[in-house]
Amino acid sequence: MTPSTSPLDQVAAGIAHAARIAGRRADAVTLIAVSKTHDAETIRPLLAAGQRVFGENRVQEAAAKWPALREAYPDVALHLIGQLQSNKAEEAVALFDAIHAVDRESLVDALGKAIAKSGRRPDCFLQVNIGDEAQKGGCAIDALPGLLARARDAGLPVAGLMCLPPADVEPAPYFALLAKLAREVGLAGLSMGMSADYETAVTLGATHVRVGSALFGTRGAA
Ligand SMILES: *Cc1c(COP(=O)(O)O)cnc(C)c1O
Repeated sequence: MTPSTSPLDQVAAGIAHAARIAGRRADAVTLIAVSKTHDAETIRPLLAAGQRVFGENRVQEAAAKWPALREAYPDVALHLIGQLQSNKAEEAVALFDAIHAVDRESLVDALGKAIAKSGRRPDCFLQVNIGDEAQKGGCAIDALPGLLARARDAGLPVAGLMCLPPADVEPAPYFALLAKLAREVGLAGLSMGMSADYETAVTLGATHVRVGSALFGTRGAA
């Protein structure tokens, strides 16, 4: 790869390579450019290069940044990848096209109400606490079938599962486990893989990779 290749081209090539190894189509994988903490001036070059799917982890920050950018690029899809408080569900449903960290019944219920009220139907991903870590969000593996049933009852368009594997260990077994859980419950979407491991995630079936620092450089304290 030549040094002048852009980070976006490099990540796209990484996804394509991993998909090829796995016998998957590269266009079966959506690259979510995680623009959290980065300002509009940093985001614009990616928009100019054709990237249209972006991820943010805070409702407030996204609400401040994206309406102006969306005027110039109305076909942008915004994904909320971070934890969501139930009292922000309405704002999140109004702003985002997908919500990735749906992990508890109270949030499912709040999103269901917001969806019914607004008529907007963002793709919802149920977050699974795949490494069973006390400090992490996500529902327990055992609780997944119940949460999924509740989400369907509440009228959420459930697109798939999402996870953040434990830090500093080989992520592949966790990605494989999330893929297995998704098969078991009959969901097609798999939101997994970040800058350090998106290629591994793609070989194991990721349909959505959430990549920040590999595209934008390292963040300040987030
Ligand atoms: C910040 C973040 C990412 C992107 O992380 P990078 O390592 O910068 O690619 C992905 N997923 C979630 C949930 C995040 O909060």
